[in-house]
Amino acid sequence: MISLTTPFDLTAGWLYEHAVLPLLYQLGLMQWDDTGYGWTLFAVYGVAQVVATYAVCLPLERWRPVERWPDRSAVTVDVLYTLISRVGLLPLVTFVLFYQLQVWLNGWLTDHGWVPPTLETLVPFLFGRPVATFFIYVVILDFVDYWRHRLSHVFGWWYALHAVHHAQRQMTFWSDDRNHLLDDVIQFVLFLAVGLGVGIPPMQFPLLVLLLRLLESLSHANARVSFGWLGERLLISPRFHRAHHGVLAAGQRSRNYGAILPWWDMLFGTADFARDYARTGDPTAAEVLATGGYAAQQWAGLKRMLRTLARAKAGPAAR
Ligand SMILES: [Zn+2]
Ligand SMILES: [Zn+2]
Repeated sequence: MISLTTPFDLTAGWLYEHAVLPLLYQLGLMQWDDTGYGWTLFAVYGVAQVVATYAVCLPLERWRPVERWPDRSAVTVDVLYTLISRVGLLPLVTFVLFYQLQVWLNGWLTDHGWVPPTLETLVPFLFGRPVATFFIYVVILDFVDYWRHRLSHVFGWWYALHAVHHAQRQMTFWSDDRNHLLDDVIQFVLFLAVGLGVGIPPMQFPLLVLLLRLLESLSHANARVSFGWLGERLLISPRFHRAHHGVLAAGQRSRNYGAILPWWDMLFGTADFARDYARTGDPTAAEVLATGGYAAQQWAGLKRMLRTLARAKAGPAAR
């Protein structure tokens, strides 16, 4: 069990004792005692991350907005997406599920005479260098995410889901989590597989994902913020990611697929550092994907995916 030392631990401890534990007890789920505490802790981290993102991004958006909207009601659904993702889903998947899977996998491997994988066994240089190891985890996950994102623009059925992310015309720092649930599931499966494959410790994995998502929120901010010639080539800025969301870039012709490091776009020829603060949105997306409620967007994304699959099955002539 984690020691109660930081404000996060104290808050999580209080919430766990007064809300989560009684609920688990009532539902007869006391076997989830330990992981229940972990989920509470990372949910508290999730709330803290949303507050930190708000504190950094809101002044940026007020200071140098790219666009001003008299009616900001389309942003509200993105706030809901963020809370569902950061406080509910991410802690559940990146801690509870990852931890359970790792315990199961390592047990199974040990039973069969295998040593559970770690990055340090592959790269012995990293032994005793936790900061470097953490950074390599970031690079690996970001590389995987570049290809996931790029391929989601290649396959029609996949883009039908990803269009939920691109349909937003009022893009703000809240827009990062605006994704179709099935699209989230694909990302979770990839991240969990990679995390298990390189043996990321269970307490580090959720922190890694929190860090990646914090930087991704910033890159969606409605702010004229560039990191300068060199900075833009080291870390993805709001300016760089906005080019990906530009109306001309939606669908297969897009650029700038990276999540936090622009290196993969530079390496694979998809970087565009020239485009400045384009308007965002996807003109091919139904209006409900832009301005509908959460359930309506999820449903519309699913229907669009099924329609695309049906058309593909009917043959190229029917497309
Ligand atoms: Zn995209
Ligand atoms: Zn985006």
